[in-house]
Amino acid sequence: MMNIVQPGHSGWIEVICGPMFSGKTEELIRRLRRAMIARQNVLVFKPRIDTRFDETNIISHSKLSLPSIPINSAEEILEHVDENTQVVGIDEVQFFDNGIVEICQQLADKGVRVICAGLDQDYRGVPFEPVPQLLAIAEYITKTLAICMVCGNPASRTQRLVKSKERILVGASNLYEARCRKCHTVDE
Ligand code: ADP
Ligand code: MG
Ligand code: ZN
Repeated sequence: MMNIVQPGHSGWIEVICGPMFSGKTEELIRRLRRAMIARQNVLVFKPRIDTRFDETNIISHSKLSLPSIPINSAEEILEHVDENTQVVGIDEVQFFDNGIVEICQQLADKGVRVICAGLDQDYRGVPFEPVPQLLAIAEYITKTLAICMVCGNPASRTQRLVKSKERILVGASNLYEARCRKCHTVDE
């Protein structure tokens, strides 16, 4: 008998990346809500470090929100996923260690649709691990752009508005704004 491959049982990885204020969380919430409406089994995670607006919900700068499970490490995702899980959403994925890459692979291999959203560059414009690694293995990639607060062009970078050399400095419009390549500056 001929070997016919049955479609519909394969998982995959989607990555939504871009600077702050570009709509990554809005787009993640849009995709997850559609899956929930279609009665798919959805789990949403965020790193516990990101408690800017809320302890448990993922929240966009435009105030859209969705309940999520705050976790300390990538491995914790596996404690929540079971054989019924169809979709896994992860926001602020840049705050996880590189272990997240293997976890996403494993889930997709098992047939789960994995949707990750996160910054692709830090405040200096340097690729923000583990997002580059996730982009390399993803089936689908979406790059969202904001609008430059200085000149109005499409903004791919996040401008830090305070002096700090810490890579991770959690904040919103009090600390950051969207800028294009030309208007983005880095303090020496
Ligand atoms: P991200 O998750 O990428 O940081 P969000 O989905 O949380 O982005 O927020 C996107 C929203 O941010 C936009 O719909 C808009 O309301 C707001 N916003 C604030 N500043 C800007 C900007 N410079 N360009 C575009 N949207 C902005
Ligand atoms: Mg966001
Ligand atoms: Zn600009």
